[in-house]
Amino acid sequence: MEIFTYLKAPDEASAIAAANVGRTLYIAGGTTLVDLMRLEVLRPTSLVDITGLPYAQIEERGRGVMVGAMVRNSDLAVHPLIVKRYPVLSEALLSGASPQLRNLATTGGNLLQRTRCPYYRDPQNTSCNKRLPGSGCAAIGGYTRSLAVLGVSDKCIATNPSDMSVALVALDAIVHTKRPNDTRTIPIAAFHKVPGDHPEIESVLEPGELITHVELPATPFAARSRYLKVRDRASYAFALASAAVALELAGGTIRDVRVALGGVGTKPWRAPQAEKLLIGQKPNVDLFRRAAEAALTGAQSQRDNRFKIELAKRTLVRALAETAGGTP
Ligand SMILES: Cc1cc2nc3c(=O)[nH]c(=O)nc-3n(C[C@H](O)[C@H](O)[C@H](O)COP(=O)(O)OP(=O)(O)OC[C@H]3O[C@@H](n4cnc5c(N)ncnc54)[C@H](O)[C@@H]3O)c2cc1C
Ligand code: SF4
Repeated sequence: MEIFTYLKAPDEASAIAAANVGRTLYIAGGTTLVDLMRLEVLRPTSLVDITGLPYAQIEERGRGVMVGAMVRNSDLAVHPLIVKRYPVLSEALLSGASPQLRNLATTGGNLLQRTRCPYYRDPQNTSCNKRLPGSGCAAIGGYTRSLAVLGVSDKCIATNPSDMSVALVALDAIVHTKRPNDTRTIPIAAFHKVPGDHPEIESVLEPGELITHVELPATPFAARSRYLKVRDRASYAFALASAAVALELAGGTIRDVRVALGGVGTKPWRAPQAEKLLIGQKPNVDLFRRAAEAALTGAQSQRDNRFKIELAKRTLVRALAETAGGTP
């Protein structure tokens, strides 16, 4: 690991001022960052510890909920407001990592966790455009079982691994941030970026921009929501495919719906084509299957991850059926 300086930020202004310099990164729970520093994948010259900032609350705001960026994943998952009003978020968090990791992992850090592409994490032996722009992508033509089929480019096919972010997409969450001279709000669907020609840029955040809160709006579909994750073993494993569904039923018809996929996209993947098919229809398995076909439109696989396309479709059909109140 390279030598770095460390500052425990006493307040927000000092954190943002310190992070605006050179190769500085914020550190929250450290469960992504410290691993990647040890592997010399990330090489910050300074760390700004933000765990002392006053963002550890979960509060009602109007009819919605504001979640501080420093709220631990374990606390968020079991909070009564989340369990009752946003069950998809609770389920997604509880499906991630292990209890010990969730006790450290924060809301802000989870949004910015890095891909688990094995080549990204192996700087001594492999080329990776995300780690070193322009160096090539060892994954394309390599071993791709865990990698993405949606939103891929010829520069990168890495999967975004966050379960929480997929649930947030289905909830129309809004990310609140601070920069040196202003604040801004970013709809979650616009927060992460597909790799395109610049896989090294994973979100719309600017260097030093601090996530302060995630807002969960009050929507008519949030309370009837589910997260279904399919993985190699029942716990402590990343998604091969996952689906977050939130829907509003009125008189037996789907009035509104959000569909998001995980484990298959280069970013937490919203599927508007599927949503369009579902709205105004009576729930049934044929409809869900057509929605799943639409959700995977444009999927591009490699040799080892072809199975993910059908797996994601089946995962979504089951998630829709369970959310609508039946089993397929
Ligand atoms: C073994 C293992 C298994 C895991 N399994 C899963 C899983 O199944 N599903 C899943 O979703 N996740 C999983 N994770 C990932 C885990 O959820 C993340 O590591 C965690 O959420 C990151 O949060 P953190 O607070 O520790 O982030 P940190 O490691 O502290 O930071 C991560 C990144 O976010 C930046 N950052 C942190 N907070 C802010 C902020 N407020 N504003 C701006 N930038 C910020 C940091 O600079 C850094 O770049 C796993 C992790 C491990 C180690
Ligand atoms: S898929 Fe992306 S992260 Fe993985 S090696 Fe290629 S460029 Fe790097």
